[in-house]
Amino acid sequence: MAAWVEGRVIERIEWTPTLFSLRVAADLAPYKAGQFTKLALEQGDRRIQRAYSFVNPPSAPYHEFYLVEIPSGELTPSLGSLQAGDTLLVQSQATGFLTLDEVPAGRDLWLLSTGTAIGPFLSMLADGEAFNRFENLVLVHGVRKGEELSYQPLIASFAGQYGERFRYVPFVSREPWPEAMAGRIPAAIAEGRLQARVGLGFSPEQSQVLICGNPEMVKETQQTLLALGLAKNLRRAPGNISAENYW
Ligand SMILES: Cc1cc2nc3c(=O)[nH]c(=O)nc-3n(C[C@H](O)[C@H](O)[C@H](O)COP(=O)(O)OP(=O)(O)OC[C@H]3O[C@@H](n4cnc5c(N)ncnc54)[C@H](O)[C@@H]3O)c2cc1C
Repeated sequence: MAAWVEGRVIERIEWTPTLFSLRVAADLAPYKAGQFTKLALEQGDRRIQRAYSFVNPPSAPYHEFYLVEIPSGELTPSLGSLQAGDTLLVQSQATGFLTLDEVPAGRDLWLLSTGTAIGPFLSMLADGEAFNRFENLVLVHGVRKGEELSYQPLIASFAGQYGERFRYVPFVSREPWPEAMAGRIPAAIAEGRLQARVGLGFSPEQSQVLICGNPEMVKETQQTLLALGLAKNLRRAPGNISAENYW
């Protein structure tokens, strides 16, 4: 049986009317950058629980989660009304294999995300280990509207700290947005537009690619990368592509 502990919201960060982050104080077992735990609220006699990735590096003195409120969702409307001082339940043992220790060596680390699934990659980048292991780091974030490009100060701090070794490529699909690429991530890879923008190609020898978020994007991106000669990364057969679906 998974152990649940009480967490207390110590800060709430508002990004848009539906996107928010919760910083939570809770006594959790140690975890790795890229992992997730479960958050829950009691509704009547039911405990509604869902998976959420850590955004903070494991060394942070708090646990941070980046969420989107799904209006028809069972849990997120209630999580969305939590304010500093409110309590929630947190599973004390994190889990998940989208972690750097599962990723073989390479020269370039590509972190491809949609929506709130940028979270685990921010954790990895802030942790610093990604920069110890890879020469080039590319953070790609696909959203519908420009206002959904959250965490800009943190992302800018990676560029400030690591210079040209770090590249950030936002994709905005539903409106033109300064500096952002138009359209969707898999199409931009298939057409070579993402590689041209970043100045790096994909190759089995040099690329490690982590993909997280919308299952359609994850599937299509994997297919596109397989067609470019990359292979799925399995424990019994190391490859280049590791992925996690958010639903
Ligand atoms: C490993 C893992 C990690 C996750 N980490 C996060 C996280 O860090 N932040 C986060 O917001 N969600 C995350 N999720 C999704 C989360 O667990 C819930 O599914 C989500 O919050 C919706 O819960 P709900 O009860 O409100 O909606 P439900 O009633 O369960 O409705 C689910 C539906 O909402 C939509 N949906 C679910 N998640 C998202 C999303 N992130 N973006 C857009 N649409 C979505 C899908 O259409 C899905 O079918 C993660 C899921 C997994 C499996």
